[in-house]
Amino acid sequence: MAQLAGIEVSGVSIAGLETCIDLPEWKLCFDLGRAQYFALARPLVLFTHPHMDHLGAIGWHCATRAMRGMREPTYVVGPEYVQPLQKLFEAWRELDGSRMPHRLVPLAPGEEFELGHQRVARAFRSYHRVPCQGYVISERRQKLRAEFRSLSGPQIVERRAAGDTELFEQQETPLVAFCGDTLIEVLEREESVRRARVLVLECSFVDERVSVEEARAMGHVHLDEIVERAELFGNQAVLLTHFSERYSSREILAALDAKLPPALRAKVTPLLAGRRN
Ligand SMILES: [Zn+2]
Ligand SMILES: [Zn+2]
Repeated sequence: MAQLAGIEVSGVSIAGLETCIDLPEWKLCFDLGRAQYFALARPLVLFTHPHMDHLGAIGWHCATRAMRGMREPTYVVGPEYVQPLQKLFEAWRELDGSRMPHRLVPLAPGEEFELGHQRVARAFRSYHRVPCQGYVISERRQKLRAEFRSLSGPQIVERRAAGDTELFEQQETPLVAFCGDTLIEVLEREESVRRARVLVLECSFVDERVSVEEARAMGHVHLDEIVERAELFGNQAVLLTHFSERYSSREILAALDAKLPPALRAKVTPLLAGRRN
């Protein structure tokens, strides 16, 4: 498990096989392509798109939690996928003979889902072969406006009681952004992707075995495209995921060391779990 800029992020992500990005402190994960035990403890899964390596284990997750007497899970998905998923669950109920209780929440790009604890998830558009969306999780806090910072505690209480609504402003801090499968354009078009404290970005291909053009035709990011945009990454930490299984961990690390400018390399961690050395 890795601490990235003070936030615990872990998981497994191998292109075409499985992706699940785990945020254990917040009891949620992004995507669930393959049955992973750790994900059973997450009552909330936010799905980016329904490719099998990102959504394949949704039925297992739902049925297994129910069998263990755990509370019904919530699945957040793009609105276009609600109906086919309902049909899928209907088929599973028939096959499995169980109720498979869950809550399916449609969330369109731009819309928000309250996570509690002053945190909110907002969906944004990613660019893939099928409709895909990323999520940014932000913290929202009420902050005393700068011009009122000299007020004493009792003065603040008094003005609040008198209905003064000007005292506070809302401050939003983007903590984690996850893009799902995407073209690199998401970095240019989505400000929160550049600003999130921790960015989780796919990087399916790292060398000439697959060209930038081929990567783009498949709707994925190539390391060379990240290098070209190195100055856009305003994040404190970047977790690169979804590397093709053709690369060993050593090859990925060597490519990152050779290609990334030092300032960006210092912020980048590759997610290598479940991969050969
Ligand atoms: Zn994928
Ligand atoms: Zn995909």
